[in-house]
Amino acid sequence: MVAEKTTERIYDLLLKGGRVIDPANNVDGLFDVAIVGRFIALVDKDISPDLARTVADVTGLVVTPGLIDIHAHFFGIKGGVLPDAHCLPQGTTTGVDAGGSGHRTFDEFNDTIITQSLMNVFALINIVGKGMIGEPEQDLEDMDAELTAAKINQRPDRIVGVKVAHYMGPGWEPLDRGVQAAEDGGVFLMVDQSPIHTRPMKEMMLDHLRPGDMVTHCYALSKPMTDVDDKVKPYFFEARDRGVKFDVGHGSGSFSFRIAKAAIEQGLLPDTVSTDMHEPSIMFNQATMPETMTKLLALGMDLADIVKRSTWDPAIAIGHPELGNLGQTALADIAVFEIAEGDFGLTDNGTAHRVFPTDKRIVCQMTIKGGRVVWDKNGKSRESWTATPPTNPALA
Ligand SMILES: [Zn+2]
Repeated sequence: MVAEKTTERIYDLLLKGGRVIDPANNVDGLFDVAIVGRFIALVDKDISPDLARTVADVTGLVVTPGLIDIHAHFFGIKGGVLPDAHCLPQGTTTGVDAGGSGHRTFDEFNDTIITQSLMNVFALINIVGKGMIGEPEQDLEDMDAELTAAKINQRPDRIVGVKVAHYMGPGWEPLDRGVQAAEDGGVFLMVDQSPIHTRPMKEMMLDHLRPGDMVTHCYALSKPMTDVDDKVKPYFFEARDRGVKFDVGHGSGSFSFRIAKAAIEQGLLPDTVSTDMHEPSIMFNQATMPETMTKLLALGMDLADIVKRSTWDPAIAIGHPELGNLGQTALADIAVFEIAEGDFGLTDNGTAHRVFPTDKRIVCQMTIKGGRVVWDKNGKSRESWTATPPTNPALA
């Protein structure tokens, strides 16, 4: 019997010739990525283009798992954005709404946004029952650990953590109730509380948070990690050593180059990269994932390490290891980036509004969500326009 030479096109899409960075699988090099249906079929050297129905030449580009933005705003606040339109063009295929909904409003968030989005949308549920709606986050009466935990346990598929933020009162009640809800729901807590004299950062991080809980806006001027001599305060290292995590949460008022540069040089890196995406942060600072990653690159962090903290590490933090990686049979959520070269200016915020010059910018070229090309800036997955058939004479 003579074996037949097979030319069957077994892959739906092949990304060919890119630098694949997949930290979860210790992959960093020139590889091709083949996709079948919604899943990754193979990451390997030199996969034949004859085996794929569609081939995208991504030579010179960087291929990563779809980004995971662990701090974004899609619901419950003025300026919250629609996930798909704002995230998919940036290579972000998973977004976590940070506290827009509480136990009273989660179902509405689920019905109007989560189930209506192509990307994976998860929630950090606010300790405040009505989330960020109304007079936000001051009503102690509406901060119920038991009801919040009950909601988490009802919807563990979508609620991945608890958020405590913006409380102006003197005490720790919101944080302690949030920690209790997170404990009873088996999830982590993200906190955004600027220090006041009755609630210092040191006490918060060393006495109230648990290992795995996360301080967001870590390089904000309002939560200064560094002293007047630009030295990272020792208790931040103490907190890190006991397992407290630090999240970027860029936003429109929470990223200072002066603090971030000093902290990164002194070894206090962000555990997760995130945008705090909402309309003001997009308008003011282009606070997208690629731009935030660009800033960390400009501050001297290694690209592969930045990718890890934007994909695999947040996947683990939210308890979804099926995301944030390009392993065989993983969901085909993929981003393709250009590392553009030129004279660029990156901007920060807070009480300072400054510019930081750089010669590289991370730009999303393609996004693939569940095997489907949903963003293709330069048409790399398309045939040439010359393949357009002639007009139909019957339609004259
Ligand atoms: Zn936020």
